[in-house]
Amino acid sequence: MSEPLETDYLVIGSGIAGLNFALLAAEHGRVAVITKKAPDDTNTNWAQGGVAAVLADDDSFERHVEDTLTAGDGLCDRHVVEQCVQDGPAQVQRLLDLGVRLARDPSGALDLGREGAHTRHRVVHWEDLTGREIQRALLAAVAGHSNITILDEHIAIDLLSMAKYGGDPACFGAYVLDRRTGEVKTICARATVLASGGTGKVYVYTSNPDVATGDGVAMAYRIGAAVGDLEFVQFHPTVLYHPHARNFLLTEAMRGEGGVLKLGTGETFMEHYHPMKSLASRDIVARAIDNEIKKSGADSVFLDMTHLEPEFVRGRFPNIAARCQSLGIDIATQPVPVVPAAHYMCGGVKTDRDGATTIRGLYAIGECAFTGLHGANRLASNSLLEGMVFSHRAAAAVREAPRIRPAQVATWSYGDATDSNDAIVVSLNWDEIRRFMWSYVGIVRSDKRIERARRRIEILRDEIREYYLDFKVTSDLVELRNLALVAHLIIESARRRKESRGLHYTLDYPDKLPEARHSEIQLTNGPRG
Ligand SMILES: Cc1cc2nc3c(=O)[nH]c(=O)nc-3n(C[C@H](O)[C@H](O)[C@H](O)COP(=O)(O)OP(=O)(O)OC[C@H]3O[C@@H](n4cnc5c(N)ncnc54)[C@H](O)[C@@H]3O)c2cc1C
Repeated sequence: MSEPLETDYLVIGSGIAGLNFALLAAEHGRVAVITKKAPDDTNTNWAQGGVAAVLADDDSFERHVEDTLTAGDGLCDRHVVEQCVQDGPAQVQRLLDLGVRLARDPSGALDLGREGAHTRHRVVHWEDLTGREIQRALLAAVAGHSNITILDEHIAIDLLSMAKYGGDPACFGAYVLDRRTGEVKTICARATVLASGGTGKVYVYTSNPDVATGDGVAMAYRIGAAVGDLEFVQFHPTVLYHPHARNFLLTEAMRGEGGVLKLGTGETFMEHYHPMKSLASRDIVARAIDNEIKKSGADSVFLDMTHLEPEFVRGRFPNIAARCQSLGIDIATQPVPVVPAAHYMCGGVKTDRDGATTIRGLYAIGECAFTGLHGANRLASNSLLEGMVFSHRAAAAVREAPRIRPAQVATWSYGDATDSNDAIVVSLNWDEIRRFMWSYVGIVRSDKRIERARRRIEILRDEIREYYLDFKVTSDLVELRNLALVAHLIIESARRRKESRGLHYTLDYPDKLPEARHSEIQLTNGPRG
């Protein structure tokens, strides 16, 4: 058992939020960034579209604010929206200063893309690989920085709380498993910053990489932090359905250029749902596909571009054409099997305007945070912006964080735990959760479906808790325990919302209530696994 390690700031996650925070906080303290796999294994690395900011002459802060509020369907915090929108141009400049390459138009000005529900062109991008470019530049800036240490293959298990020592539940670090050696380290810090990303892996179909298991939300909840708006899961309508290609997103531009959604029989169906057919908004298309799949029992529907010029299709979508070709699908001559998939978590760990959670010493930034920017539905390309804005604000706020510590810090104890002899329990439970969450608490919900999910998650959580206590901790077990807790929190949030608003759509309450309320959940009866 090793002695506790000390740093000023402990950052959990190496995406846009964690790395930008690290660079700024390193100006006034030592930073340890832990990341559970490779440093570039993040949602950030997969972002395609870009970063929204007001840069065009015909655009204004008011317009971007209004677009964000409209998407958020009554649940955005106007002050937070204004703060993010007004900071947008400065954050784009910071990206350029960090060496991020951004596409330019023939005049040399930044090329501004337009995305769904934006009333103006305002998305800066680098080809369709913006996230990868940002991740590259941030990692290059962090590399070799004398005040920043990156610990890859290190997964946070739980946060350290003064409550365990009889104090109020202030946070002073985390227990961290070194995945290479199996050693559990105790890392103490003045401020602990969750930058742990999304929760997409709670669902069987997701555009997110494997790291998106909601660890930050689960850890924060376990030490008593308020979490909220977790029922607002954004689903992307078209992710490739193929056994050897998980998480591959097919951009909405394919429908924009004339792609048509069809059933396996070749029939079209979007005309039954919206006058704009395949070009209806994301939520409507996702809901329609979900309904058709549930009705027919088919595995997927199809995105058909075969009526367009093959050269045009392959030329307009070269990356997608190449990826599909490698899987034996020619997008110009064959309909592409697609399913909707969990894409983005609008809720998370509740924070103030500086990223501070309801627990002293604990901050949350990026996708794991619930800042009030997105409300009940996220406006496309606002999330990378949020990551930049809140990492900046939190890095300034932590400067004042006091050092809170018990007289003697307890290091990790294995107790009577033995090596697991039943790893199948982990993979079976993992699979089961993700499937029933998809079927019962997915795109279209009902009281009955949510109740079915609630009963199942309680049984599984009991089983997982037992397993967690009996066996030595592994990375898979950490993730499963968190996934189960996040599933429970999503179910609970969905169960409490007796209306359809934004991304939460339930057959039992198809209308919106007159008053928009957030759903907050906080542990009140002592820590539970
Ligand atoms: C396919 C796709 C396309 C997207 N396109 C866009 C877009 O165009 N524009 C936009 O604004 N947004 C987009 N998004 C959303 C956006 O990419 C994310 O919201 C954003 O990158 C999240 O950044 P983050 O820093 O909060 O977390 P991430 O980038 O996800 O990083 C999370 C980090 O936390 C680490 N971590 C998690 N748990 C632990 C733990 N227990 N211990 C240690 N480390 C841990 C992970 O390993 C990872 O390093 C897209 C998302 C996807 C999946």
